[in-house]
Amino acid sequence: MNHRSLAFRLGVWYALLLSASFTLVGVGLFYGLEHYLRAALGDSLRRRSTQIEEIARSVPTGTAVAAIGDAIEIRVAPEFNNRLVRVTRAPGELVYRSGVPADRSFDPAAVPPFSGPWPTNSVTHRTETAQHQALMMSATTVEAPSGRYLIELGASLAPGDSLQTHLLLLLAMLLPVLVALAAAGGYLLVGRALRPVDRIAQSAEQMLLQDLDARLPVVPTGDALERLSISVNHMLGRLRDSIQTSRRFLADASHELRTPLTVIKGELQELVHNDAIGRELRDRIGSVLEEVGRLEHLVSGLLVLSRLDVGEAQRVWVEFDLAELAAGTADQMRLMAEDRGIQIHTSNLARTVVRGDRARLKQVIVNLLDNAIRFTPRGGSVTFSTSAGEKHQALEIRDTGIGMPPTALSHIFDRFYRVDEARSREDGGAGLGLSIVRSICAVHGVDIEVDSSPGQGSCFRLKFPHSRSSLSASSAGTGP
Ligand code: ADP
Repeated sequence: MNHRSLAFRLGVWYALLLSASFTLVGVGLFYGLEHYLRAALGDSLRRRSTQIEEIARSVPTGTAVAAIGDAIEIRVAPEFNNRLVRVTRAPGELVYRSGVPADRSFDPAAVPPFSGPWPTNSVTHRTETAQHQALMMSATTVEAPSGRYLIELGASLAPGDSLQTHLLLLLAMLLPVLVALAAAGGYLLVGRALRPVDRIAQSAEQMLLQDLDARLPVVPTGDALERLSISVNHMLGRLRDSIQTSRRFLADASHELRTPLTVIKGELQELVHNDAIGRELRDRIGSVLEEVGRLEHLVSGLLVLSRLDVGEAQRVWVEFDLAELAAGTADQMRLMAEDRGIQIHTSNLARTVVRGDRARLKQVIVNLLDNAIRFTPRGGSVTFSTSAGEKHQALEIRDTGIGMPPTALSHIFDRFYRVDEARSREDGGAGLGLSIVRSICAVHGVDIEVDSSPGQGSCFRLKFPHSRSSLSASSAGTGP
């Protein structure tokens, strides 16, 4: 579980807030119940007290104390009702005291006597026996012809207290469960609510510079999330316009540069063959011509790349035999390779039908073969081979050249990257050949794999998706 995630933090906040509100409700419930029970008990005591007050008032002067007790027992039945009744006549004569109640919740003899002056109005108070039995007491003074009476009624507080204890226990058990359930529910709900954000993030992650028309999914939530995806999509639209403008500018600039370069090259070539020019000047013009050649190479590389960027590679797509294209290209470059003492082997090429822009894919083979020849010392060889798997068909170009260190492999397809800058530049390399290869392959859905180790040689493997006719040919071949 990610502790920094929004879902987790909201879950924790949710749990804290719920705990606080549940605790408040619990405390309210606890004291509310206590207040209600005390009030109900007080009312009941006062009602019974009124009955006894009536008895006291109606007692004729000189009535025996036992007769008063009998009258009370008949009308109120204190023991049976678990009540204490104590009647005292001024100045301090105990007229009546009820016996041990049916539930034995208190000992009537142990209830402390009323302290202080007798109240004129009915009062309720709490008292405790020596055995810590808590009672609620009501006390009223009655003026009767037979004397002045203090009428006390009491009831045990134990049943109410035990109800409160039960409530407390129930709350203590339920509260953590409720909070845990609510927090888990909150965590899940927030996680679910954030799912559209995840979808947007995944789409943003998968966006490629090649696909400038890709847009984020707009989640119809009608809130900030929907507005965010719409705004980001608008921004992507503006970004696409600006990238396309700069790509078109690069394409136009490299195109415009080609003509003056061709003119300069032509003029210099004419000059270099002019006999009226001295040897030293001719040498210098020759080296300028070499630089112009490199510049031309660079500009045409940039032009190809920028055209690929603006999506001009998908012009003429046809199905053709890749093996035939590779063999033909190898034949055209064989002379250059032999000049450098390098053999090209094409005997492992088998018919491999692919679909794509033939001219562009020829450029891929030219660039890879050109690199293989340039980075292989005299006496080495370059071998072409094809293979077909279940998911793809591959063309392999393997050389016995100088190879590349593992750290370079992740950069060789970057623009202007050269492993050994000095050597590559000497050979006319501008670091654009493999970038062009990658761009063309990306358009054709071709994966490129490179194996290389210094001093051992390199192998570039192009994995083509099966074309429709190559699939039907192979299924025809394997069918019954
Ligand atoms: P360049 O035009 O400079 O050759 P590339 O983009 O074609 O640029 O290649 C980038 C770099 O990758 C080269 O400078 C070279 O160092 C390295 N490289 C490419 N192909 C090979 C190979 N077959 N053998 C060894 N190094 C290679």
